[in-house]
Amino acid sequence: MSTETARTYQQNRITTHDAKQWLERERNTRLVQLTAIEESEPDGSDQLMAAQTTAIRNVLEEITAAQHRLDEGVYGVCQTCSQPIPVERLEILPYARCCVGCLPR
Ligand SMILES: [Zn+2]
Repeated sequence: MSTETARTYQQNRITTHDAKQWLERERNTRLVQLTAIEESEPDGSDQLMAAQTTAIRNVLEEITAAQHRLDEGVYGVCQTCSQPIPVERLEILPYARCCVGCLPR
């Protein structure tokens, strides 16, 4: 990465260090939720709980995918319009694949 690119990266996007922390924090939150559900509903018979478990597992997959993008140096770039995703959005949703403008409606 050139100095110029590195500077742009710093200004327009979160640092790799921050992104890693946010993703890690997000993963831990989901794992705690997952454990709480599994403890309260060990036989998995409750449909609502099952749906929540599925949703959380999907998020965990998204987090893993985001961590791969981070490793590949394409993290924080909208997969639809290729523009940098605003830092404010990544702070709320660190595994976001696209910017707000490209969200499916
Ligand atoms: Zn976009």
